[in-house]
Amino acid sequence: MNAPLPTAVQPPVQAADLAALPLIEKWISFASVSRDSNLPIIEWTQNWLEALGIECTRTYDDSGQKANLWATLPAENGETKIGGLVLSGHTDVVPVDGQPWVTDPFVAQIIGDRLYGRGVTDMKSYGATALMMVPELLKRKLKRPVHLAFSYDEEVGCIGVRRMIADMVKSGYQPAGCIVGEPTGMQVVVAHKGKHAYKTSVRGFEAHSSLTPQGVNAVEIACEFVANLKSMHRQLAKDGPFDPIYDVPHTTIHTGVIHGGTALNIIPRDCDVTWEIRHHHLNSPEDLFTQAKAFADSLLPAMRVVAADTNITHHLNSVLPGFATEADSDIAKLCFACAGTDSSSACSREGGKVSFGTEAALFHQAGVPTIVCGPGHIAQAHQPNEWVELAQLAWCERFMRRLADHICVN
Ligand SMILES: [Zn+2]
Repeated sequence: MNAPLPTAVQPPVQAADLAALPLIEKWISFASVSRDSNLPIIEWTQNWLEALGIECTRTYDDSGQKANLWATLPAENGETKIGGLVLSGHTDVVPVDGQPWVTDPFVAQIIGDRLYGRGVTDMKSYGATALMMVPELLKRKLKRPVHLAFSYDEEVGCIGVRRMIADMVKSGYQPAGCIVGEPTGMQVVVAHKGKHAYKTSVRGFEAHSSLTPQGVNAVEIACEFVANLKSMHRQLAKDGPFDPIYDVPHTTIHTGVIHGGTALNIIPRDCDVTWEIRHHHLNSPEDLFTQAKAFADSLLPAMRVVAADTNITHHLNSVLPGFATEADSDIAKLCFACAGTDSSSACSREGGKVSFGTEAALFHQAGVPTIVCGPGHIAQAHQPNEWVELAQLAWCERFMRRLADHICVN
């Protein structure tokens, strides 16, 4: 995030002030580490919602041991598909193995003005607070439908939510906005960068190092390729395009690993380079890759004069999409209105932009304008003794209640 988050001035929050606390405690009690099944927390949550008359749908992984849960609260006029909001969060948490926990990570515990437990920040508190609101939303009646979207396997690459979103599209749901409750300190986050990771492999031609004209040195070719990536990076840093809200306001290109050669007296045959493009919405990673590949292709003719089967190949290892929602979009304006605190707004009106990836990008890709806004800070995520300030939980409840004022009939 660009600037430190302003802290709302609030009286100290007590456990008794937090209506969602029992549900947060319940969710924390499920040790839903990504490597294990998340069915117990899904089962419990589905039962809880169905007892209130809410219809739920699951989408499973291939093993059947993990599931997403999609639940729809219909609008007053019976509408379930068109318009409305998605409140989205993941049910999985990262492991606690080897971490020096002082408390039982799967028993939520208040110490001072903080709540401790695995997932209190990332990100069960938001999901549980959304659940807490369900009876109130039903009572006050909704102008448009509200969907709860609880996913599996977010922590291992936003795996689960892809199936839920595919099912959402296939079933004809067209929500008008989505709020992903990853920890942003209740700041309204409107964008994060995307990342494309590549491996480029140079196949050269081996020869004795005294006979350099008879070999094709894969390490040296790879270094030329890396040097070109670096000059592309320098140009982005110098000429942009820039999005000043990010800490690093331009798209970056970076080489992380280079591996090649076997001995000093052998002209190396192989060299692999692992590199990435981390882009904001003003750059196309595909275009930048095309530019890098064109440079690599320009090296081939000279290589093939020496040995015909030399080559430079590229493999796209992974893609994490980015997203950017306009700060004056309806969903952003709604979130600013709900997240602001009393007369002195604690929220920047242009919205924050963060460097960590979230499921927001996948909702955005599916055409749903999306915001990230949730209690706690990413610095406490994945840590031993993960905690969240009670004040953040109270802020999240306040956010949800203001949201209800906007989306409910009564
Ligand atoms: Zn998370």
